[in-house]
Amino acid sequence: MAARPAPTPAPAGPAARTAPKTHRGEVLRTERLTPGMQRVVLGGAGLDHFTVGDYTDHYIKLLFPIEGVRYPEPFDIRRIRADFPRDKWPAQRTYTVRGWDAERRELTVDFVVHGDEGLAGPWAMRARPGDVLHFGGPGGGYAPRADADWHLLAGDESALPAIAASLERLPAGATAHAFVEVAGPEEEQQINAPDGARITWLHRDDRPVGAALTEAVRKLDFPAGEVQAFVHGEAGFVKDLRHYLRIEREVPRERLSISGYWRLGHNEDGWQATKRDWNTQVEAEQEPATALPTAS
Ligand SMILES: Cc1cc2nc3c(=O)[nH]c(=O)nc-3n(C[C@H](O)[C@H](O)[C@H](O)COP(=O)(O)OP(=O)(O)OC[C@H]3O[C@@H](n4cnc5c(N)ncnc54)[C@H](O)[C@@H]3O)c2cc1C
Repeated sequence: MAARPAPTPAPAGPAARTAPKTHRGEVLRTERLTPGMQRVVLGGAGLDHFTVGDYTDHYIKLLFPIEGVRYPEPFDIRRIRADFPRDKWPAQRTYTVRGWDAERRELTVDFVVHGDEGLAGPWAMRARPGDVLHFGGPGGGYAPRADADWHLLAGDESALPAIAASLERLPAGATAHAFVEVAGPEEEQQINAPDGARITWLHRDDRPVGAALTEAVRKLDFPAGEVQAFVHGEAGFVKDLRHYLRIEREVPRERLSISGYWRLGHNEDGWQATKRDWNTQVEAEQEPATALPTAS
């Protein structure tokens, strides 16, 4: 469903194409950024081969062991997938690279705190220095294009790390409208964006996820010129905004990075298992003549 722009590709040699490398991150420190966002900084020698490309939405696949299963050391996802039955493979969760400091070998990941349910959110809340987390990646597909007249960024908390990284990458003088829906005022974060970037924080309060965001994006008076848009978060509102941008505003596909990062009522295993069908159906509904499913 995400039509990606084409900035400098992330590094991907032959090995990366066949199977992702597994990296071993050690928790260096954690920080509660806001009541609903937990930052975890990973480091250690297990990140020696980690590197990122030019995307601002780089993501990694966190690997959580299945309870009661012991995996051979050194942890190698290719071996595990070859030797273990599928139901014993580690569970995967996708998270954005909020920051990568290659010199200090520090990888920053921001986790939405969404209650006791799930693996990654609760793990981040419990994480302590020295804890180990294996992960694959990075993947990615979006970066602000220099030739866009203006940038539209919209998402909920799960997309905030990528939106913040993208705003920080914008050159001075760039025009951007960013809409971020969060639970309430206590969830707003400081973002170092250029003067031409206007960040609108939307407080969800008791409304369904995405309602305030969709409304605000629809009310925006589009600046003149060609937009490049980045829209991610809960799949339901992403679908609505895709319709608005792609069909009603006729934003070309190649100017649109848009996909569901998670889906209400589904964990990531469930969402990833149905995401391709969901995307195909959205494409079929919204552009029957050109349906071409893609997924991240
Ligand atoms: C490319 C990409 C990048 C992403 N980057 C980030 C990131 O940087 N930070 C981040 O926090 N998330 C990010 N996400 C979303 C994240 O992968 C999902 O939210 C994931 O489901 C969280 O895993 P979990 O183990 O905590 O919960 P799961 O076990 O997957 O789900 C448990 C329950 O929690 C619900 N749930 C899941 N996520 C949320 C949420 N955000 N708010 C409310 N309820 C939720 C589910 O619907 C389910 O009912 C990204 C997703 C993608 C595809």
